[in-house]
Amino acid sequence: MAGAALIDGKAFAEKLRTRVAVEAERLSSKHQIQPGLAVVLVGSDSASQVYVKSKSKQARDVGIRAMDYRLDENASERELLALIAELNASPIVQGILVQLPLPKQISADRVLRTIDPSKDVDGFHPINVGLLVTGHTSHAFVPCTPLGCILLLKDRLASLSGKNALVLGRSNIVGKPMLQLLLNEDCTVTVAHSRTKDLEDHCRRADIVVAAVGKPCFVRGTWLKPGATVIDVGINRITGPDGKSRIVGDVDYHEAYHLAGAITPVPGGVGPMTIACLLANTVKAACLANGLAGPDWSAMMTT
Ligand code: NAP
Repeated sequence: MAGAALIDGKAFAEKLRTRVAVEAERLSSKHQIQPGLAVVLVGSDSASQVYVKSKSKQARDVGIRAMDYRLDENASERELLALIAELNASPIVQGILVQLPLPKQISADRVLRTIDPSKDVDGFHPINVGLLVTGHTSHAFVPCTPLGCILLLKDRLASLSGKNALVLGRSNIVGKPMLQLLLNEDCTVTVAHSRTKDLEDHCRRADIVVAAVGKPCFVRGTWLKPGATVIDVGINRITGPDGKSRIVGDVDYHEAYHLAGAITPVPGGVGPMTIACLLANTVKAACLANGLAGPDWSAMMTT
């Protein structure tokens, strides 16, 4: 029997970036607007440095003006809030990204609430959360990772309406926004977390499984309903029996392959979509800030 179809997030992200570049170019040639993204990093965490470098580079590649801001590890909350106030007021900045995690002397919550919601391209401000919950997504910024997941799902499935979906994990960054996005597509959604009972039974009923738990190969193949569509958000570094370190997801890919209808690989599935969606949100922010309609990326990707 043939195994699950591969949901190629890397290829889809490349297609999305091309679309974003076309929209950025259209904004520039037709309206003389260049979308601007401020990328703020506090401290010198090596993983965060790699992420922000990649975000800025990919932004420049699609025609977004990326502006890098670096604050010292010991920077105070007041300093960071002053920088955000400056960026909120800047006419050349349409998107503000503050790389998380922040050093312990700074409240991430306070920082994220200080970003102007119309420049909050990470989608973490309570106003954007509220707009997503009430289904007003044309004016909201949806967090990039779940946005990437829903774009992949809509590309894969003709319709999500009426499907049973299971979201594993209830974080503000992935699980909760994912619940809302699936609800907005008329799925019947169950959200599971560390206190959920009979997880395997919930899983076996799900036509769609989105796993965001942070535990390597946590979801076993035998838990899946045959033909289910599986989106694996997890990024876990493990050491294999050969002593080499590698990245695996939250789903046991090799087991799931035999039962799932389609599955995202790790790496190369959800991961590449996250930055592509950040760029998409930045171009959307530039459109909305100038009284233009935000692009409907989902519709664009299916034409
Ligand atoms: P998180 O904040 O640590 O949340 C993990 C969630 O999993 C929590 O809701 C937790 O439940 C739940 N959980 C833990 N153990 C469980 C169990 N035994 N059964 C059921 N649920 C359980 O993680 P996150 O930020 O959402 O990230 C999740 C994964 O996605 C991580 O591997 C992360 O690296 C990855 N990620 C990837 C991207 C990307 O770009 N691809 C972006 C973000 C995150 P409780 O709430 O009860 O504690």
